[in-house]
Formats: sequence, structure tokens, C-alpha cells
Amino acid sequence: MFTPPARAELIRVVDPVAGLPPALQHALDEQGFDPIPRPGPHDWLASHPGPGQTFAAFLARRPPSPDPARRVLYLQPFGPFDTGQEPPVDLLSRFAAAFFALEAVVLPTAPVTGVTIRINSQTGQPQLLTRDLLALLADQRPAGACCIVGITMDDLYPDPAWNFVFGEASPRDWAGVYSFARYLPGEAGPAAASLLLRRACKVLAHETAHLLGIAHCVFYSCLMNGSNHLAESDARPLHLCPVDLRKLQHSIGFDVAARYRRLLRSPATPASPMRPGGSPRNCCTSSSTRPAPERQHVHQAERVPCLHRSRDRRTRPDSGDLSPRAVPRRRRADPTARSGCLTGRVPGDPAVGS
Ligand SMILES: [Zn+2]
Ligand SMILES: [Zn+2]
Repeated sequence: MFTPPARAELIRVVDPVAGLPPALQHALDEQGFDPIPRPGPHDWLASHPGPGQTFAAFLARRPPSPDPARRVLYLQPFGPFDTGQEPPVDLLSRFAAAFFALEAVVLPTAPVTGVTIRINSQTGQPQLLTRDLLALLADQRPAGACCIVGITMDDLYPDPAWNFVFGEASPRDWAGVYSFARYLPGEAGPAAASLLLRRACKVLAHETAHLLGIAHCVFYSCLMNGSNHLAESDARPLHLCPVDLRKLQHSIGFDVAARYRRLLRSPATPASPMRPGGSPRNCCTSSSTRPAPERQHVHQAERVPCLHRSRDRRTRPDSGDLSPRAVPRRRRADPTARSGCLTGRVPGDPAVGS
């Protein structure tokens, strides 16, 4: 049974901050953040109660970090990406640039030529093989890329044994690919568009942070919390806790106050205030506004950082955690699908996240 850490533990996991610039010390003040809530029976930590990744543990992994020659985050849409259901890629790019304090560049939409496609037996919809997309991304990664992230509105699968996967990352290639198809709210209108954009920003930031070596968070209510189902994903905030903020700041070396100011100006985060140098408490996606649990499937899985995947029920018995989930308007509900975010192993680090 997972027990939220005590305050003394929260202070320890950030590591001594003496000697850091005053603004950074202020930004890392643990009193400005909400502790992680006690998990419900179907939440991530109920089934993955790992010890968490302290700042010291993060450093011990020798995680990859952008260097002066590689400071561009590339977004690669895979077509078609103009069906009217997708989140605005320009807003995604501006959010990513602000969140990671890096340059973000959107590459021209690429065709999925040469990518293995199958028709999902449950939904009747086409799915793209992630392995082929990751190979394309690795081949096409520009020289100045710190990472390249493929995005698609098509459903994904990692191999024939799996029903679907939200995304898959290849830390070795600094590449990941994620689908927004299963994040569609299932309805139209400004509120739905805002929800899709927020979900898209979350998954982009969460998965890219995994590519930088940041594992799932068990200390605070945090963007890097693991997620077992869509309601849990929706409940986690769009900001990083002090532990993971310190990891990201160490990796990229940004001015923390300037980053918060840039995030405040980002049109993708108007409803997620992050006060510069201070507390992101009361963020619109904090646990205080956690939506009521939805009857959505649970169990998320990812082999490498956030390989969100779902086993086909026919090849692996149901663990009893299945329930209907929101699906794109053009898709049928898939009651047999299991999906999720099970952080797996990164090369050279068998202990990373879960
Ligand atoms: Zn965290
Ligand atoms: Zn994850």
C-alpha cells in the first residue's frame, strides 16, 4: 500500500538546495506544492508503489541532456494531421518551447509511407506500427535535435500481440511517437477543444520529460505522476513538482523565473497558472478539481519511458480492470482495451520509473 511521503521526506528528495540561485531555491520550496494524494484502488500507485526517483537518483543515472549543439525539440506530425479533430500543433509547439525552455520546431507533416498499418479488430480502424514510426524519426532526426517527437491522430500499436498503445519512446534515439486519437473528448465545442489541448500538452511534456530521464513521480501532485486511466491523467497537473523541476532545470539549465513567465504567456496554458518563482498550487488541473472517476479502462503500460500500450485480451487474460473508455467520435468503444503508462527500462538503467 502506497503512503504519501511525510514533509521531511519531501525535503530530502529535492536534495540540499543551499548554493543554488535564490530564485531557484524559492521555486523549489516544497511548501508551495500539493503532496501526492493517496491513490484510489485503480490508480497508478495502487499497483506500482515504487520508491520514486529522487534528484540524487536522477543524477546517478547520468541522464541525457541537451547540449549547446542540440537544443531544438522537433515535432513531427504524421499525416493526415488536418482532419479538424487534432490539437493545434502551433500551440503545442509554443507550449513545448515554454515548458522545456528550448526552441521547438514543427516539421512539415510527413506521410506514413512505408509504415505498417493494420485494422484493429475491435475498432475497425487503422493503426500504425510504432516501431516503423520510431525508425522514421530516428532516420530523420535533424542534427540539432535534442529530441524528436512524432504526433499522430491515428491509433498506434507496438506489435501484433497488443491491442493499442498511446505511444512509445526510444530514449536511445531521443525519439518518441504519441497518438492523440484516444484523448479526444468525444464531443465538440470550445470546452472539448480546450480539454484536448490540455491533454495533448500534458502527454507531450510528460513523455518528453521521460526522454530526458525523468521517471514517474511519487512525491507530489505532479505532471510526472504515473497514470492508470484517463481520469487519473486528467487529474494530474500540468506543472512539475520541485523534485522534477530541479531535474529539468539541471538538465536544461534555464532561468526558472523566466520559464514560468514564458509559460504564463503560452496560449496553451491560460487555465493553468504557474506563478513565476512561486507555487503552482491551485492549478486548474490539480487534485482539487479532480474530475469524477470515469468508467474507463485502467491499466497503463509502457516499456521504455511511457510506452503506453494495451495488450490484446485474447493474448493475455483480463486482470479485471477493464471498462469502457472515451474514444474518438469516429471510433467505436473498445471495452476490451487496456492502456496506459507503465514506464519501463531505459538502456543502462534497470531502475527507472514505473
Ligand atoms: Zn514530481
Ligand atoms: Zn509516464
